[in-house]
Amino acid sequence: MSVEIVPYIGYPIAFAAGFLAAWIFARVLRPSEEQRGGTEKEIYLKGINFVLSNEPDKAIEEFTKAVRIDSSTIETYFALGSLFRNKGDVGRATKIHQSITIRPSVDEKTRIKALYELGIDFRKAGLLKRAIGVFEEVIHRAPNMVEAYEQLGSLYEEIGEWEKAFETRTRLSRLRREENRNVLAHIKTEMGKKLLEEGKEGEAKKAFKKAISIDRGCVDAYISLGDLYFSTGEYEKAIKTWKEITDVAPAFSFLAYPRMEEAYFKLGKFNEMEGFLRDVALRNPSDPYARLYLARYLYRKNHVEEAVKELREVVDSNPGFVEARKELLRIIVDKGLKEEALRELERVLETDLTYKPFQCGSCGYRSEKFLWKCPQCKRWDTITLKGKEAP
Ligand SMILES: [Zn+2]
Repeated sequence: MSVEIVPYIGYPIAFAAGFLAAWIFARVLRPSEEQRGGTEKEIYLKGINFVLSNEPDKAIEEFTKAVRIDSSTIETYFALGSLFRNKGDVGRATKIHQSITIRPSVDEKTRIKALYELGIDFRKAGLLKRAIGVFEEVIHRAPNMVEAYEQLGSLYEEIGEWEKAFETRTRLSRLRREENRNVLAHIKTEMGKKLLEEGKEGEAKKAFKKAISIDRGCVDAYISLGDLYFSTGEYEKAIKTWKEITDVAPAFSFLAYPRMEEAYFKLGKFNEMEGFLRDVALRNPSDPYARLYLARYLYRKNHVEEAVKELREVVDSNPGFVEARKELLRIIVDKGLKEEALRELERVLETDLTYKPFQCGSCGYRSEKFLWKCPQCKRWDTITLKGKEAP
């Protein structure tokens, strides 16, 4: 019986006792600031030192103390929020930033900063639409905040909202007084690709042409426009469009070769490919792709020796160029040149075939295939074919 009664009487008593103990602790036995590890300022400085010495766990511990001492210290909250986020604890970072945005006492500048940080949290957590919503609000409150436009622009790109991405990037260019034509042209090209997917050929064509008029060096726009002509059987126009790449951006000609080969073939003018490739190889002797395609062409024409010679020169100066190595081996094996095949195989085994020929000049990301936008740092036009040593 006592077992059942005790809880009902016991809870209020325990509650009162707890309250009393807390009051005594707070008013009478509360340790001095020194005992608790210093004043808020000292704790804050200690935290900063831990940040600087790259010890985020200890920094978080110190900052948490500071927040407990004076919960109105907004800067400490911000520092804590970024630390949690950088440690990968986005949930706690979000809670901290959210708690700042809903405080009635904070000024507008602080609220905007907290919203911006919240947007970054959502983005890091993969909640892209929520991040977009927050950044839109930031821009609504601070129409000239460059960083928010940057976030918003790249988020629209990430979810394929090209029209909005274009609009945002245009405003960003104006704010920064920069042109950023290459990025705008890429976005226009992406808009064209989307239109094409929706079956709107005419509008897509206009978008690709517009992209070229924004940036004459936008290779992807020439590629896409040429592909569109090819798909509608306008092979001459396709060839003419792709050929322009060799003039405006010779380093990207390798994207045009296989397409042109096919178009010339469709036209029954395959012989014209040779003249074109020889001309490109002459103008850009360091372009290994021109020589690879020339070798393929020569082999098809049964000029085996000449094809092998071209490929040998290509692989000698570009040992990691897997495509050329494969082609050379294929031709040698096809022709039953056993000894030569064995020698070549030996050379292949000595080569690093896992080599990734494309690299981002901004963040160093490496890739096996060519990309217009770096998936790591999200920048446009930073990935290129690495120099002579490895195409
Ligand atoms: Zn990058």
